[in-house]
Amino acid sequence: MSVFKPVACDCPACGSAIRIDACDSVNGVRRPDLRQEILDDRFQRCRCSACRSEFRVQPAFTYLDVERGQWLLVRPAGDLADWQGFEAQARTIHAEAFGADADPAAQAIGARLAVRVTFGWPAVREKLLCAAHGVDDVLLELLKLALLRQLGDLPLSDAVELRLVGADTRALHLAWLQAADGALAEQLDVPRDLLDELAAERADWQALDAELAAAAYVDLQRFLVEPA
Ligand SMILES: [Zn+2]
Repeated sequence: MSVFKPVACDCPACGSAIRIDACDSVNGVRRPDLRQEILDDRFQRCRCSACRSEFRVQPAFTYLDVERGQWLLVRPAGDLADWQGFEAQARTIHAEAFGADADPAAQAIGARLAVRVTFGWPAVREKLLCAAHGVDDVLLELLKLALLRQLGDLPLSDAVELRLVGADTRALHLAWLQAADGALAEQLDVPRDLLDELAAERADWQALDAELAAAAYVDLQRFLVEPA
C-alpha cells in the first residue's frame, strides 16, 4: 500500500498556510509510477495553491519493494545528525512488520529485504538506482571511500554529498550534490570496472566493509558526520 496524508504547511515562497499531500509510505511494486517519480527526481514536488510557486517537500516515508528486496526508512536531510537513532528506528519498524512476532508469510518476505535508512532526496534516489542497475550499495560506498582517498581535496561536507545519479553498462555517474535540495555541485563518471576491481580487493577494506555490511545506514556519511 502507498499512503498519502493531508498535512498543513507554510508555502516556502509566499508563507501562505496551505495543505499538501505528504507521502507516508510507498510500495514500489504496486505503485511503479511513484518509484519512477523518485528516480526522475519529481516525487513530492508540490505547487502552492496561493502563489503557484513549486517546492519540494522533504521526504519522510517508508519504502517497500519486495521484488528488488528493499525496505527503506526515508528521512529528511535535516535528520542526518541523528543517523544512529534513525538506524535503530529502521530496525524496530522493520522488525514489527516482518520480525518474529509477524505472521510466517510476512517473516518470509522480511528475510529477503535489505533494511536501509536514508536522509534527503539524493540518498533515497541513489538506493533505488543501485537496485535498478545491479549495484551493491555496500560496494558503492567503499568505492566512494576509495575515490576520496585517491582524489584528495573534495567538496564534501555534511551538506554536500557524493551520490550515484545514474549508470549505464560502462560507467557509474556520480555527483556532488547539496543534500537538502539535490543541486549539482560537480559531476564525476567512473568506469564500472572499478567496482569489479574493488570487489576483488574487498579483503583490504575488511573493517569498513564489515561495518557497512552490518549497518542499516549504508552511507559513507556515517564515517564523516558526528552523531548528535
Ligand atoms: Zn505560495
